[in-house]
Amino acid sequence: METTSASPVLSLTVYARWRRRLRLAFGVGPMLAVHFALLAIPFVEFTVWSAVAMLAVSRIIGLGITAGFHRSLAHHSFKTSRVVRFLLVALGCAALQKGPLWWVAQHRLHHKHSDTADDPHSPVVENFLHAHLGWLFTSNPAIPDGGIVRDLAKYPELVWLDRLWIVPGLLVASGCYACLGWNGLIYGYCLTAVLVLHVTFAINSVGHLFGRRRFETADGSRNNALLGILALGEGWHNNHHRDPRSARHGFAWYEYDETYVLICILKWCRLVWDVKLPHLASLRSSQPLSRSPR
Ligand SMILES: [Zn+2]
Ligand SMILES: [Zn+2]
Repeated sequence: METTSASPVLSLTVYARWRRRLRLAFGVGPMLAVHFALLAIPFVEFTVWSAVAMLAVSRIIGLGITAGFHRSLAHHSFKTSRVVRFLLVALGCAALQKGPLWWVAQHRLHHKHSDTADDPHSPVVENFLHAHLGWLFTSNPAIPDGGIVRDLAKYPELVWLDRLWIVPGLLVASGCYACLGWNGLIYGYCLTAVLVLHVTFAINSVGHLFGRRRFETADGSRNNALLGILALGEGWHNNHHRDPRSARHGFAWYEYDETYVLICILKWCRLVWDVKLPHLASLRSSQPLSRSPR
């Protein structure tokens, strides 16, 4: 009697497909969960403590993304100890934007291929919705090229955070619930996380379409004043593309950069050092830098 068995190659393909689907689901699942949690808003009263919690948590997790994920890990804009870096990055994990190594890999690809077909989220090549959040559902949920984050993957604490990035989010959400009950959980954590997610997404979508261009960079990046304030300084995106290594994104006195204020406070406390700053005269006179992953 003849028996049939799946070929090993086919089994491997099916396994890889399911592995990719599961990875994608675990990646975007927490983002979707905080969105669905907002359905509870009509049943939970908004109080002055809701506003206080939102202000505090938005700074805690938002600055974790901007100072930890972005300026420290992705661009090495300042030096700090592994303990301080771990704490900043752990706070960034609570913003539910997936693991830090994955985040940095995608962001370095964005700088390397800005507004070309290889950019993971370009509103110029694709469209606004794709750049804002569509790319999260279509891009490879694995780290695309291990080499692009090799400088970070040698630190076990960062690899640990990249695997267990959901843990800080659960801790912050639990803390909000412990302090303020449903009010803290729904407004303090879920609504705040949703707002921080969309402000971060807007850097990729709005920040490459709407605003002023101080520098003629090789991409469509813009300085957007509203995003500059909402995104804690990240909205001065054209400045950032011109000089990605600078710890300061607001180059003019009127370009408020809350993340840089935090970096200055940390520097004053001697917790960070070797803070890289833009050399404005040479940036204006020289040709734009070629695309660089960091
Ligand atoms: Zn950009
Ligand atoms: Zn960047």
